[in-house]
Parts: sequence; structure tokens; C-alpha cells
Amino acid sequence: MLLEPRLVKLSTRTGVEVRRTLPNAKLRRIGAWVFVDHFGPTAQTDGMVVAAHPHTGLQTMTWLFEGLVEHRDSVGSVQTIEPGQLNLMTAGRGISHSELSQRGPSAMHAAQLWIALPEATRNAAPSFQHLASLPELPLSAGATGSLLVGELLGVRSPAQVHSPLLAAELSLVAGSVLKLPVDSGFEHGVLVVAGEALVNGEQVALTELSFAAAGQATLRLEAIGSEPLKVLLIGGAPFDEPIVMWWNFIARTHDEIVQLRAAWNNYEHAEADGSFGMIDGAPALFSTFDDRVGGWIPAPDLPNVVLRPRV
Ligand code: MN
Repeated sequence: MLLEPRLVKLSTRTGVEVRRTLPNAKLRRIGAWVFVDHFGPTAQTDGMVVAAHPHTGLQTMTWLFEGLVEHRDSVGSVQTIEPGQLNLMTAGRGISHSELSQRGPSAMHAAQLWIALPEATRNAAPSFQHLASLPELPLSAGATGSLLVGELLGVRSPAQVHSPLLAAELSLVAGSVLKLPVDSGFEHGVLVVAGEALVNGEQVALTELSFAAAGQATLRLEAIGSEPLKVLLIGGAPFDEPIVMWWNFIARTHDEIVQLRAAWNNYEHAEADGSFGMIDGAPALFSTFDDRVGGWIPAPDLPNVVLRPRV
């Protein structure tokens, strides 16, 4: 099944538009992957400019194809990330963070994905993991790849996740084919970030996400056209917990979302009540690079309906 992106301008971001393929009118999630955003390529100076904002009940995975971004968060992390590295932030019961493109590279091209946390760990303490290098995958001729999350071809990533998940970056030279043995209990998605692909015989253009339901033991990728192919492969065991996803929060009930929103919008007092913590030096940081953003982003108004949990 082919999932086409929609253009989104997030309330938490200025600068480039984001192409979002999950959630999608056709599909809400792939395993516990609930959110797939793809930025750029664009000029680095138009890149990621995101002031302090909160998350709950999820992990964010940030992966750069090009560019340089600084991440700061309320557990004290100050971490630049470059292509080939992984930032995995676990919000648990609550975290706040900022992301800002840095001077240097000319281009910015990235993906950010969210992982829903299961009930057992969604209220755990927040944490942050940076992986400076990732294991290479032993692929056939014409293909190279890195494993970001999970296990594949006997290789295991040290990324700490809380349900059975997979993420990998795969590159194929033009005209080549990769037959990849995968966990047939997983659902899979293939996001094309450069070139054009056939995925299990389905034509997938740049920025599109091809979905494969559970039950397949092999994924077949082919780089069609004259350009090299680069994809982000994600997968996971079907995640069937009903969740409420609103703004930057994942919770289980409408009332939880109301409380989280109120706690965040009381940001000046958030340090005192311990809801989300504070980011050291964030306002000063933003003013040195880009004056389009202030220190923090308030949550928008809630819709005039009761938010219902969805599977
Ligand atoms: Mn965020």
C-alpha cells in the first residue's frame, strides 16, 4: 500500500515544511511507529528551528541525511547530531527539548519519527540516548546500510526501545536489487528519501512510504531510474494499545491531555512543579542563530470535541 505525504507546517517549527506520511488517512501506525516526518533537502539555514516544546508517552528518533542540528533537553543533554548518528529521546512522563540547525553544512535533509511507548513504560523517567556510530549491515553487492533500531541480518542496534521495532537506512546503486529477509511478524514501511524504488513490485516515488502488512518474510527493493536509491526502512510488531495523540503528547485519555496541556502552558512554573523541566540557555541559544523563534512554544487550544483513544 502506497502512503503519500501531506505538507504540514507545524506549530512547533518555523522554516521548511515537513512531509508527513504517518499518521495517514489510510494507516495510523507501523508497529509502534506513529509519526513519520521528512524534511528537506533544503538550505541548512532554512533548516530545523524548533524552540522548547514538550513530549509525553513517546520516543523521538532523529536521523539526518545531511546537515547539523543541536538538540537540548530538560534532562541536561546538549548534543549536536550529524549524518550517520542517532538521537533517541525518551519522553516517558514528560520532557522538553529544542532543536536548531547549526552553521556549517550547506544542506539540511532529515527525518524525525515518533515511537509510541507501551503502557508499561510510558510514565517512566525521561532519558536521552545519542549513538555516535551505528552498525553496518552485511548486504549484497550494490547495497549498503546502517542499522538504527532493532535487529536485522544478525546485527543488533544498541538503541533502547520498548517494543519490537526495526529501523535501518539502506542505499542501493542505480539498477540494483536487494532481497532482505525480515521478521514476518512485523509490519514494515519503506520511505524513499532519494531516487525511486520498486518495493515488493510497487512503484514508490521520492517522499512516498510503501507499507507492507505483517506476514512477509522478504522485502524486495529495487533502485529504478538513473539515480541511486536511499530509503529509511521501519518495522515493528503490531502495536494495538489505544492511544490519544494530540499536539506533542501521547496519552490514553482526553483528561490526561487536558492536564498535560495545562501543565506545559504554565511553563514559567513548570520547573517548580517538575512537569517537564527546563532547558538551560535555550532562549540565548536561539537568538544567536535565528530570531524567528522565542524561548518556548505554547500548546494550541484544544478542539471542541472529546479526544478519543484510537488503535
Ligand atoms: Mn519534538
